[in-house]
Amino acid sequence: MAVFSKIKGNYKKNFPLSKFTWFQTGGKAEFFYMPNHIEDLKSFLKKVKKIPIHIIGGGSNVLVRDGGVSGFVIKLGRGFDFIKLEDEYILCGASVKNINLSKTLAKNNIKGYEFLSTIPGTVGGCIFMNAGCFGNEIKNFIKSIIVINRNAKILELNKKSISFSYRSSGIKKNYFIIGAKLKLIPGQASVAKKKIKQLIAIRKKTQPIKSLTGGSTFLNPKTKKAWELIKKAGCEKFKVGDAEVSSKHNNFLINKGKASSSDLEMLGNKIKKKVFQKFGIKLNWEIKIIGSKK
Ligand SMILES: Cc1cc2nc3c(=O)[nH]c(=O)nc-3n(C[C@H](O)[C@H](O)[C@H](O)COP(=O)(O)OP(=O)(O)OC[C@H]3O[C@@H](n4cnc5c(N)ncnc54)[C@H](O)[C@@H]3O)c2cc1C
Repeated sequence: MAVFSKIKGNYKKNFPLSKFTWFQTGGKAEFFYMPNHIEDLKSFLKKVKKIPIHIIGGGSNVLVRDGGVSGFVIKLGRGFDFIKLEDEYILCGASVKNINLSKTLAKNNIKGYEFLSTIPGTVGGCIFMNAGCFGNEIKNFIKSIIVINRNAKILELNKKSISFSYRSSGIKKNYFIIGAKLKLIPGQASVAKKKIKQLIAIRKKTQPIKSLTGGSTFLNPKTKKAWELIKKAGCEKFKVGDAEVSSKHNNFLINKGKASSSDLEMLGNKIKKKVFQKFGIKLNWEIKIIGSKK
């Protein structure tokens, strides 16, 4: 692996990914790389041509299987953590935390981004997932996104060329989001800040945000709410090992402390089976499951 000796940035072998996921479960990345600068990432991609690469953001919607992930897992570092207010748009790096973006924009008299304060994770993950809540989705604020492909080529994708849909951006697996240009909507700092407080308070009441969780486990089927189907199918008290269904929000799974990723995946599959038996509706995972089983 001499090729890696020249890689700039933070590079580690057999790195435990549980440190970087909200569930705090799962195996190791065969190789883990945190580029701190775009030039580091470019030179890395030019060197690592054939090895699989998986990118994670804040790890708030990911379940890493216990057998770990082969190849590279990358997580963008501090050089991708910037917010610049330009005249007609906001330029934002992909590793900016949603909550920081939301609060910074509110402080700068820019409105619309208050909902993001309640969604964990980073701007890159948020765009990839087209995350949303309180009737809003990140797609509503995108002008363009900036990606780097496996050949280290940087591309700016206009919003029209991106197939955003419910919890999906349709962005190809070999594109890594490095930043975005976002809409600049003038507002009033005091109003935006107040709204952020209100939305966070609602979240605290309705979601287990202090628990080890991966957010919504399943996508809502077209005309139903996943949590309601789970509740009505009688899965509320389902458990596998230390993996449980949240009593606050039945579409959230929780690691009570010692759950493995396998416990969480088995619990999810048990719920899927029960909901299908009861209603004939197939639930699909919203959580991205990566890696191999032990
Ligand atoms: C308590 C809690 C509440 C939540 N509430 C909501 C909610 O209200 N609405 C909602 O939509 N989601 C919610 N989620 C889910 C999650 O926070 C969002 O999906 C979030 O946008 C994921 O961002 P992340 O940075 O953590 O991405 P990760 O979880 O690390 O990754 C998610 C996916 O995005 C991809 N990805 C990450 N970064 C990049 C990048 N730079 N380039 C390309 N692909 C990338 C990953 O490969 C993976 O497939 C919640 C989660 C938790 C734990």
